[in-house]
Amino acid sequence: LLERVGFIGLGNMGFHMATNLINAGYTVTVHDIDIGTMKKFSERGVPAKETPREVAESSDVIITMLPSSSNVLDVYTGQNGLLSSGNHLSPWLFIDSSTIDPQTSRLLSDKVSKYHLKGKKGYAENPIMLDAPVSGGVPAAEAGTLTFMIGGMEEAYLAAKPLFLSMGKNTIYCGGTGNGVAAKLCNNLALAISMLGVSEAFALGQSLGITASTLTKVFKSSSARCWISDSYNPVPGVMAGVPSSRNYDGGFTSKLMAKDLTLAMAAATEVGFKCPITSEAYDIYKKMCDEGFESKDFSCVFRHYYSGKDE
Ligand code: NAD
Repeated sequence: LLERVGFIGLGNMGFHMATNLINAGYTVTVHDIDIGTMKKFSERGVPAKETPREVAESSDVIITMLPSSSNVLDVYTGQNGLLSSGNHLSPWLFIDSSTIDPQTSRLLSDKVSKYHLKGKKGYAENPIMLDAPVSGGVPAAEAGTLTFMIGGMEEAYLAAKPLFLSMGKNTIYCGGTGNGVAAKLCNNLALAISMLGVSEAFALGQSLGITASTLTKVFKSSSARCWISDSYNPVPGVMAGVPSSRNYDGGFTSKLMAKDLTLAMAAATEVGFKCPITSEAYDIYKKMCDEGFESKDFSCVFRHYYSGKDE
């Protein structure tokens, strides 16, 4: 039921997630709009298909790891999309691990459930969709230690658990469709603000004559300790293997963080909830994107916002 996995979106995260599935012994077929990325897989003998539809035709399960809602909609409902091969689909399970808005997740899950299956597979007569965004960043994607937050039918989540555990070490079932992405938006809201807090403190520390490595030691055993100060330090030279140590490349881009804050603010507006610090944080990440750093990791806020220096 889970043997043949189709993976679409092989970027900073998806590349490693698909690789971990291959290493775990699954039969993986991939697709990305980036030809260079596809080549990296075809050179390893992994079938790289030209359209999402072709991937769907040879898969039991589909996983998508795309930048935003519009890309996910495109891959599902576009001309050669996952749902374009008629009323009967081969995959019984569709897992979207992209960080998108809960409304789009619900809309697509509803759409998917209206199709039929080619042959009897899985739990229901109709295909099922789970929203399963992740946390942990590129290092966790590479190490296979991601956390998955899952929304949708619980039986399908339990059936797919071995798949999640080949790419991650924690799975948290969050309830009905859209709840996985809702949880993810809350997580990233706190993460965005936490990055600004740590960056502001470290920048002030340096201005007051305290080195970043000293302040990191202080944070490690004090009340400001957090994932950013422990595992994703934004100050170059403090920590190896994080984006700040490689010119802020290859992590979670400022553009994606600004996108997630937009989604969190839209979700808040929908339920009449005010989140003033989130809008302040959004303005800062947006400004960084406008100034040309949209493809740099979001931790580059330390250098470009707080130190005021140019690249
Ligand atoms: P990315 O931009 O590095 O990768 C996205 C990939 O999707 C690219 O290879 C791109 O070519 C491909 N793509 C875009 N549109 C496509 C389409 N229509 N058809 C096929 N392929 C298409 O993004 P990423 O950093 O891997 O993030 C992916 C998702 O995961 C985002 O929603 C992001 O918010 C979320 N996320 C990222 C991180 C992180 O640290 N990078 C952490 C957690 C969650």
